[in-house]
Amino acid sequence: MSRNVWPAVAALSAVLASTALAQNPRPAPERAVRRDIPLTHAIRRAFAAGTRDSSGRPGRNYWQLRTDYTISASLDPGTSRITGHETVVIHNNSPDSLPNIVLRLDPNIFLGNVPRAAPWVPAENTDGMVISRMAVNGQAVNLTPLPPSGGRGERPPLTEPRVQGLNTTVAQVLLPTPIARRSDATLDVDWSFKLPGGNGSGHRMTMRWGDTLYQPTQWYPRVAVYDDLRGWDTELYLGPSEFYNNFGRFDVKLDVPGGWIVRGTGVLQNPEEVLTPAARERLSHVLESDEVRTIVGPDETGPGKATAPGDRLVWHFVADTVNDFAWATARQYVWQATRATIPGKGPVPIHMVFTPGRARLYANAGPVARHALEFYSRVWFPYAFPQLTLQDGPSAGMEYPMVINANQGAADHETGHQWWPMTVSNNETWYGWMDEGFNQYMNILSHADAQGQAPNLDRLGQAYGGYSGDEAEPPMMWDANYAGPQYGFQTYGKAPLMLSMLGGMVGDSVVRRAHAEWARAWMFKHPSPWDYMFFMSRALKQDLGWFWYYWLFTTESVDGSIQNVTTSGGRTSVLVRQDGQMPSPVVLKVEFAPTGPGIKAMPNAVMLDSLSAQVTYPVDVWFAGDRTFRAVLDFGGRTITRITLDPGGRFPDQDPSDNVWPRPAGAR
Ligand SMILES: [Zn+2]
Repeated sequence: MSRNVWPAVAALSAVLASTALAQNPRPAPERAVRRDIPLTHAIRRAFAAGTRDSSGRPGRNYWQLRTDYTISASLDPGTSRITGHETVVIHNNSPDSLPNIVLRLDPNIFLGNVPRAAPWVPAENTDGMVISRMAVNGQAVNLTPLPPSGGRGERPPLTEPRVQGLNTTVAQVLLPTPIARRSDATLDVDWSFKLPGGNGSGHRMTMRWGDTLYQPTQWYPRVAVYDDLRGWDTELYLGPSEFYNNFGRFDVKLDVPGGWIVRGTGVLQNPEEVLTPAARERLSHVLESDEVRTIVGPDETGPGKATAPGDRLVWHFVADTVNDFAWATARQYVWQATRATIPGKGPVPIHMVFTPGRARLYANAGPVARHALEFYSRVWFPYAFPQLTLQDGPSAGMEYPMVINANQGAADHETGHQWWPMTVSNNETWYGWMDEGFNQYMNILSHADAQGQAPNLDRLGQAYGGYSGDEAEPPMMWDANYAGPQYGFQTYGKAPLMLSMLGGMVGDSVVRRAHAEWARAWMFKHPSPWDYMFFMSRALKQDLGWFWYYWLFTTESVDGSIQNVTTSGGRTSVLVRQDGQMPSPVVLKVEFAPTGPGIKAMPNAVMLDSLSAQVTYPVDVWFAGDRTFRAVLDFGGRTITRITLDPGGRFPDQDPSDNVWPRPAGAR
């Protein structure tokens, strides 16, 4: 705080003091329920520019960058080093001219002197991403770091492109001539990096087993996202939070030793140069049935048997519109394949590459991945890519476009990521819940479907009451990169609980349909949380501002209870209380004695069966600020034997035992 602020603080204190002295005759409500969605500068800017709006669909002026990569890379198992050259065509579709290019250099997390957010990020230190040459539109970049400009941000005009931060995970190239709005620029980079091994506890960035198996991920210099919300994405790569990437075409040539099988994002362009005739023949039958076929068996090893002959082979992959490229290669991979039949699209291949000793981890992987692809295609939209590959290795639970580093254990979850973030591409570094949380929710649906059952989301929403109140919990809208020890709950755990409550209010299948519509509106685009909130409120035809506010911007819960029940003249009065800050509808299950006077209909009640009814009062009953609500049940003279508040367990509640009347023996 600078010194000249103090007079302002003094003046403010005087105002507050005089306000406190003025007698306010109207008492504050017991609870002030916030009903609108908080808007930050980022989304206000987007609304003002017309790139997004309160429809929750892409706005009339929506734009996004596109980055097309051409990469040639060579792997040397002797040094575990990849040496690459890449050309990135940056299509600046924004209305802004760009005086710099921000680069994501995730491998610099291995330098050992950059920030990391969790101890389980791999520990092997390397020399990071080594950049030996760069050029922008053919003009060489001076790789000597440009010193920071100092406090006033002024520096002499640049005469050549310069760099800053090449030894961090977020670098930038400063340009003497900005990239004009709605024009293209070409970035050339020569680079190399040592693939880190070590025991990374299965982390996505442990990329090799010794010198025999490699899983390069986040492995090439990437151009950061520049979007309408915040401009360049300059978030550091800290380890736990994943990424936020531009869409574009990848044309990738991977030079590896002969006999090493390569799989990766995209479609193999030159099977006749790298595969044996036998493997090509076996592949030609994969789409014919659900059978799992062996393409390269455990006894087919080395050049001429596992692959085409030759000391080195160049595998060429192309992916048309994806937001990343990952691959895997091993001296000995068993390669199997089967198919999934995508509704409205037809069969696509599922490939699996694994080391022979780990075949049991892949015994059921094909059917699991097939169910996931087919089920999620039905629930959201048809799988958008031409193939899916499961890759074995130290990274055993991570997703990239068309590629999952997973065996059968994580195959359903990682396949789910092909929907988000691979097709519906949110900023998962910041809003991990739109990626992992939505995925956890759909995994519950998939698991039930695989068992031939309807999904049961009861009790999930209620369970949040057990977490609420922990001051270490970051709200879901808090930048997940800085979520701390509760990163897992914030990004993975909480969204299914939120969607359980939403389903408790409008029906789970209604939530699913609205979510699918939202997802289709944002395919191959970058939705923000506000787009989701506004879209869902509209699709569900409810003003859900209060719901999004409490779930996404706070860590509050409902904490409902039945305080008291009295009966008089055939009417039963139920006193419901909410001790939390989050409101909810009041849902009561009423059970009746088997005999007695007829059960009268109530306008806001439905009979569940002949002896029980469910009564619902809208959330609006809380908006005036009371903490108690008196529900008057008028079912005629039939004796009510039991009343349960929130019978489905959909609303966050720390102590569900006080939701029942009469109280069970021993309860408070
Ligand atoms: Zn995940």
